[in-house]
Amino acid sequence: MTEVRTFAIRTFGCQMNVHDSERLAGMLSADGLVPAENDDDADVIVLNTCCIRENADKKLYGTLGQLKSLKDARPGLQIAVGGCLAQKDREQVLERAGWVDVVFGTHNLTSAPELLRRSLNEGSIVEILDAPDPESVADMVPALNAVRELPWAAWMTIQTGCDNSCAFCIVPSVRGGEISRSMDDLIFEATTLASQGVTEITVLGQNVNSYGRDITKRRPLFAQLLRELGAIDGIERVRFTSPHPKDLRSETIAAMAETTAVCNQLHLPVQSGSDAVLSAMRRGYTARRYLEKLEAARAAIDDLAVTTDFIVGFPGESDADFEDTLALAAEAQFDSAYTFIFSPRPGTRAADMSEKFVPAEIVTERFQRLCDVLDRSGLKKHEQRVGLIEEALVEGPSKRDPDVLSARTRQGKLVHFRAPDSGLRPGALASVVVTHGAKHHLLADYVETLRGPKHRSRIALHVS
Ligand code: SF4
Repeated sequence: MTEVRTFAIRTFGCQMNVHDSERLAGMLSADGLVPAENDDDADVIVLNTCCIRENADKKLYGTLGQLKSLKDARPGLQIAVGGCLAQKDREQVLERAGWVDVVFGTHNLTSAPELLRRSLNEGSIVEILDAPDPESVADMVPALNAVRELPWAAWMTIQTGCDNSCAFCIVPSVRGGEISRSMDDLIFEATTLASQGVTEITVLGQNVNSYGRDITKRRPLFAQLLRELGAIDGIERVRFTSPHPKDLRSETIAAMAETTAVCNQLHLPVQSGSDAVLSAMRRGYTARRYLEKLEAARAAIDDLAVTTDFIVGFPGESDADFEDTLALAAEAQFDSAYTFIFSPRPGTRAADMSEKFVPAEIVTERFQRLCDVLDRSGLKKHEQRVGLIEEALVEGPSKRDPDVLSARTRQGKLVHFRAPDSGLRPGALASVVVTHGAKHHLLADYVETLRGPKHRSRIALHVS
C-alpha cells in the first residue's frame, strides 16, 4: 500500500495570502496529500510568504534556517516557498537556503503541486512567472475546493494586482496591475459556496472598490457586486478588504447601507493624518478628504464600525506631521487599527528616501503615543456597546477557556460568552447581550439561538 503523504502550510502576511493558502491546501488535497496533524511531521512544508514588511523576510529566512535541521534529519521532506517574497527573491531563495525544493511565485500558485511532484525526481526547481498566466493563475478561478479554516466563511478574491503607486508598497511590482475577475464568475462562485452552506463571504483585493474598472474601462463595478452578492440566497454576511480611501465612492456607501447582508464594518486604511506625508506616500487624498468620506459613510450606514491602518515614521515625518496623525486618530474615533512602524522595502520609492529616515527612538515613542490614542477610542467604542443585543456567529470554544464560546458580531468584533446548555456549535448564529467592553473584545450573555450551522464540511485545516 502506498503511504499517504502529508502537508503543512505556514502563511505569512495578509488575508490574500491566507486565502491563497486555503486554495493551495485544496489543490494539494486533490493531489492525494492530506493535512499533517503536526507541522513538523509533514512530508511537504509550504511557506506562503509576504514581502510587505521587513520582518517578513527575516521571518522567512529564520524559518528556513530552522527547517534545515528537520530536512537534515528527514531527507524525504520537501520544502516549498511561494508568495510575494518568492516572487521578489526568485533564485536568491535557493542561494540563501539551498535545501529548499520548490520556489513558485504569486502568478503560478496552481503549478505548486506539479512542481512538488517534479522536484522529487529533478531536484530543486525555481519557477516564477512575470505576469499572470490566465491558464494557471489561481486568483482568477473559483476557489470551490479550497480547504477553509472556518467552513462557513469563505474568502473570495475579486481582483489581483494594484494600479496605485503608494511609495511604501511593493505590491504593484510583485503582483502587477489590477485585473478583475468577471462578475458572472464571482456570482457563480458565491452561489456555489452558498449551496455548500457558506454563510459569510469576505471579498478580497488590493483596492476592492476599483473592482471592474479594467472591465468597463470607465466606472468600477464594486457597488453592483456588493448588491449582487447580498442578493444570493444563504449569504448572510458580506465583508470586504481593503478599499482605498480615494476610491470610496458614494455608490459603494449606498450599496453598503441598502444591502442587508453587507456587514456594518469598514476597514479604510488612512496611513497618516498629515497632508505632507500623505502626499509623499502618493495616497491621493488629504486628511480632511478622508474624514469627510468617513463622515459620509457613518451618516449613511447604521452603527458602522471603522478600522484603519497607520504607518508611523514614514521618511520625512516631522513632529508636526505626527501631531496631525494623532489629531486625525482622535477625531476619527476608530474601533481599532493596525499600526505599523515604517520599514523600507527594496524596490519601493520610500526605500530611496534614506536621507529622510526618522531615527528609531523617535519612531518608537510616536508609535506608542499613537497606540495609546487608538486604544482609548477602541475601548470607548466597545464600552458603548454594553447593553446592546448583537448577532454572534460562533467560531468555537475560546482559546483561554473551553467553556466559553468565541464568536464574531456583524461589526466583526470578537465576542465571548457562556451558553452551557444551548448546544451551540461552530457556524451557528446566536443572539447575545453585551455585558462588558474591553480594548480588543466584548463579553456578553447568551440570549437565544437564532439558527444552527449550515455548512456540511468539518474544519479540516488550520492555516497557521
Ligand atoms: S493601494 Fe497602495 S498600499 Fe494598497 S496595494 Fe496598492 S500600492 Fe499597495
